[in-house]
Amino acid sequence: RLTVVGAINVDLTARVERAPAAGETVADGVLQRGPGGKGANQAVAAARLGAEVRMVGAVGDDLDGRGIRDQLAAVGIDASGVQSTEAATGTALIVVDATGENSIVVCAGANAAIDPGTLGIEPGAAVLMQLEVSDAVVSAAAEAAGYLALNAAPARPLPAGVLERCDLIIVNETEYAQLPEVHDAPLLCVTLGADGARLYRHGELVAAAEGVRTTVRNTVGAGDAFCAALVCGLLRGDAEADALARACAVGAAAVADDASQPALEPLDAYGVSA
Ligand code: ADP
Repeated sequence: RLTVVGAINVDLTARVERAPAAGETVADGVLQRGPGGKGANQAVAAARLGAEVRMVGAVGDDLDGRGIRDQLAAVGIDASGVQSTEAATGTALIVVDATGENSIVVCAGANAAIDPGTLGIEPGAAVLMQLEVSDAVVSAAAEAAGYLALNAAPARPLPAGVLERCDLIIVNETEYAQLPEVHDAPLLCVTLGADGARLYRHGELVAAAEGVRTTVRNTVGAGDAFCAALVCGLLRGDAEADALARACAVGAAAVADDASQPALEPLDAYGVSA
């Protein structure tokens, strides 16, 4: 059983040939509306990979919020830890260009209004979280967790005491460069986009996995699917190198999928080459 703590958004995605520069308008957008937010993306990915998942976060008491509750329930996620706030459901405005590259504006809304006092994390729970929620929520979740995996994204200095509680930290190359304090973590995973990922224990390389070649459709949510897969694999006791290789296969499946919450098979469907 995995508890995912984090942001829940509606993603409004505009596909364009070329993203606009400041002050410029491009008029060839094709709009797509779908569920997103790193927290919800990771929760849905973990559920689709076969994990039993509880989501902790917040949505607005509005149409989007109700739609998201229905969607989480449909994927089989326990959403009893999703608070309802006066603030509107979080929304991300995403522009994806013809190469699959994206730029994003996040309107945090409800995600910034999560009450850290009523997270309802079961004592000792295995928790996966990100940094799209307030420091107070990050600290409270870290305090309650028995096992803690932190996807340190978007990168920002960690609240005091959180780093010490992390069993696993996952960052991409940009976040790695921005967060020198995580470099010596007990277990650190650095994702390398098309080049796969590496795992370090106290700064020493312990496993590396190649990227899986695929056609890139939308890189939003790839890191989230990767995080869910790595944590699910490690929690069920897979060898670190196998968990890393499976996570890379899941990440590749995610970039080949249009959605921020890609369709995924149970974790075992993602082969580990000998
Ligand atoms: P983020 O999306 O969080 O910035 P990365 O770009 O490192 O992180 O991607 C996360 C993971 O998604 C990678 O480790 C890899 O498994 C997969 N991935 C990302 N881009 C590609 C790609 N072009 N081809 C294959 N896999 C990819």
